[in-house]
Amino acid sequence: MVSKNLGIEIKWPKYAWLNGSIVKWEDAKVHVFVHGLHYGTGVFEGIRGYYDSGVMKIFRLEDHIMRLYRSAKVILMDIPYKMEELIKAVKDVVKVNQFRSDIYIRPIAFRGLGSFGLRATNPVDVAIIAVEFGKYLSPKGIRCKISSWRKPPADSIPVWAKATGIYLLYHLAAMEAHLSGYDEAILLDSEGYVAEGAGENIFIVRNGELITPPVYDAILEGITRDTVIKLAREELRLRVVERRIRREELYVCDEAFFTGTAAEVTPIVEIDGRTIGSGTVGEITKKIMDLYREVVLSRIEKYRYWVTEVEVEGKG
Ligand code: PMP
Repeated sequence: MVSKNLGIEIKWPKYAWLNGSIVKWEDAKVHVFVHGLHYGTGVFEGIRGYYDSGVMKIFRLEDHIMRLYRSAKVILMDIPYKMEELIKAVKDVVKVNQFRSDIYIRPIAFRGLGSFGLRATNPVDVAIIAVEFGKYLSPKGIRCKISSWRKPPADSIPVWAKATGIYLLYHLAAMEAHLSGYDEAILLDSEGYVAEGAGENIFIVRNGELITPPVYDAILEGITRDTVIKLAREELRLRVVERRIRREELYVCDEAFFTGTAAEVTPIVEIDGRTIGSGTVGEITKKIMDLYREVVLSRIEKYRYWVTEVEVEGKG
């Protein structure tokens, strides 16, 4: 079955993983009174798997699972499984579904059924979902809008954790951009500096240098961000600076791009009606996009340790 609305088109897979077992897709259900649904008390991850001749290549699986546990710690939640168990569960879901194309894997842990109210520490449900998934944003370049929805200050909700409740803010920002005819939103922090996209970290290029907001700003510590910083420094010998970016600087930079598991490396060609650089994919952005592709497909020996290979059943 294929589900389509304003979001992403999904062909339902056959199986998911829920609380310790592989279950049929239609049985992957929880009760309407789960705490996470009412209060956003959950944490999640987004991981990509790249299908390559009978093998699913999962990018930075351990790093994503580690971030899931860090996010859980921030929101005072114990995940009732060991990290190795969830890593195995991800591999099991990928294998049992016999995927034949690229996928997106969504581990999620949230407070379940039990008591009621804001002090409740209900038992935690854990699910792992994997769906076939292609491009999220156009690799030809996208048009962005600075959102009127701001990132909260550091003493407000913890944006450093990938927690479900926080994503209401990003949903509102993404919808605002979409309803105004743009592809994606860019959020400013509480002081007006550039933070990140609704689901992506942001980089700009100025005079051959890469610039991105630091992790002590109101951003998610992106795994793709980390990958790109390392590749830019080690393979392209570029200087990468982590510092604040003003809104005006975005408008006049030479190149700009987003990074994210879903977005991969997506060029930004327009922001608030200002053309970025030449209005097409920038030279440095293109180099990073190509390199990123090689790395996720484990074509570069040095970075093979980032890729977990799962043989998909019924090879061929
Ligand atoms: N920022 C936000 C708000 C996100 O949701 C994401 C996607 N997880 C990112 C940045 C990029 O993080 P990553 O590269 O780890 O996917």
